[in-house]
Amino acid sequence: MSAIEKLTGYLVDRPKPLIGAETIQLLLIREILDYTVLRTEETRELNSANTPLSEINRSTLAKRVAFLGSKQKAAESRQMEYLLRSAAKTVGKDIPSGRNGDGCYLKDNLCLSCPRCGLYGASALGEGANIKHRIEYSTAFSLLPFDQISEEITFNAVNEIDQKTGQALGSRNVVKPASLFPSIVTLKAVTREELVLAVKTLLACKSYGAESRTGGDCRNTLFGIVAAWEEIITPLELTLELHDQKDGPDPAALNTLLGGKYKAVAGNPDRVTVLAPAEVDALTKECAETPLERTFLDKAYNDIAEYRRAQGE
Ligand SMILES: [Zn+2]
Repeated sequence: MSAIEKLTGYLVDRPKPLIGAETIQLLLIREILDYTVLRTEETRELNSANTPLSEINRSTLAKRVAFLGSKQKAAESRQMEYLLRSAAKTVGKDIPSGRNGDGCYLKDNLCLSCPRCGLYGASALGEGANIKHRIEYSTAFSLLPFDQISEEITFNAVNEIDQKTGQALGSRNVVKPASLFPSIVTLKAVTREELVLAVKTLLACKSYGAESRTGGDCRNTLFGIVAAWEEIITPLELTLELHDQKDGPDPAALNTLLGGKYKAVAGNPDRVTVLAPAEVDALTKECAETPLERTFLDKAYNDIAEYRRAQGE
């Protein structure tokens, strides 16, 4: 049996403007692999938040680095666009462009006709109908507290003639390599093709961070999958739970928590399906190995064309 078939009942045949409750949460570990600046303002500070230290130790507070959902989404939306562009070119498929021509890109030139626009949502700049996103991001909180994963880097200017280092130009805080961020990407009423594209995008996307000039390298690993008629767990809860796992994040222990404690407090516990760790690995592999061939792309693009017709566009 196909691993994706485990999610039958939580996938839809075609995307539609009016959606039901079908929800798939992709639980990830995002591992930062270079010195990375995670900030939104032009300050030297990293984005951070005070949170409980862990699920067991909720009364102790810890400052954590925050990896904003908007930063994850911007990089991954772009990655999906790259993926679609190359896949279409490879099979010789003509794909739609935004109003300035030359493809679909942010910002102000979205085509509102491709699987990326269909999933990530897009605003019509004129009178037309907008597309509401069906992929959702939230802030991811570092597994370990701020002081354990950040450091201050001082940068100097070097004189190119004598190679002497001048006075320090300044310093800024960065996240150290090998820092982990438990994170969740949520899919709402998506098709099999959209699930495949989303997983491929998460596996392929390796560059984040506001200042893409330096750092921002990252690897995403699928760590758990839960399907339901609602969101079962939030990224902060995931971070606090994993912090309590002393030997590092453990998929089997997470599986037990999702199917026990979190399912028990769901609004629709009879509609919760938690994939076992081996099923998560199998589904990840199946998505990665699904070729982006002509029939796949035709279905994915035709689905969005149908969606737009349903909107009267
Ligand atoms: Zn588009």
